[in-house]
Amino acid sequence: MTRYAKQLNVEGFGEETQKRLSSATVAIVGCGGLGTWQAELLTRMGVGTLRIADGDAVSLDNLHRQILFDERDAEEGLPKVVAAAARLKTVNRNVRVQPVAERVTRENIAAFVGDAQMVLDATDHTATRFLINDFCVSRGVPWVYAGVSGAEGMVFPVVPPDGPCLRCVYPERPAEEETATCAVNGILPMTVALAVSLQVTQAVRILNRTAVPGTLLRLNVWEPRVRAVEVRRVPGCPCCGERRFDFLNGT
Ligand SMILES: [Zn+2]
Repeated sequence: MTRYAKQLNVEGFGEETQKRLSSATVAIVGCGGLGTWQAELLTRMGVGTLRIADGDAVSLDNLHRQILFDERDAEEGLPKVVAAAARLKTVNRNVRVQPVAERVTRENIAAFVGDAQMVLDATDHTATRFLINDFCVSRGVPWVYAGVSGAEGMVFPVVPPDGPCLRCVYPERPAEEETATCAVNGILPMTVALAVSLQVTQAVRILNRTAVPGTLLRLNVWEPRVRAVEVRRVPGCPCCGERRFDFLNGT
């Protein structure tokens, strides 16, 4: 009996998916609500390598939704990625965890993503998401967007060169003050857990090549509702159409 026996038995998962997952490197941008849940699930499922970046320290108001941290981490003000790596090691020693105590920027994104097969969005900065989109589309690396606020969330897999990218949905980056953020609307931990469940499922399906590009998932954990919306590739998209990488190049 292997430690993964229960997930291996699930139809659509199986040995081949486990093999791909166990040899994959996944880069997680952010180690807050989204990033900690992503890392917890992927570590338990037996991902090969997790690279996770965040420049912040753990604080008390993180604990209601950020699953890898405890009160002592908050009291000590530990860097999030340091606390996360320590906890993940106790969950599954076979997973290589590579913590990076920095925010991902235009300057360091290439070095951070490196040889990863996939990027998971776990940031709450809109500008960083557009940067991830530019980088991943330019290099042909799949990534999965997730945004959460209050009881609502959105999950969107981007699988270049097939299917639409984030700028097919939002041609221009909305101003930071217009986007609903946790700081303004609050956030329920259940919203994070549901969004990440859908997001990590998309990540696994990208790895086993059964993801359906162009499926945007909208969720509301309170009502409750999950709706799949079909999104088409926009031929004139500045990013995946014209291949103008404004956020990566700073133009
Ligand atoms: Zn596009």
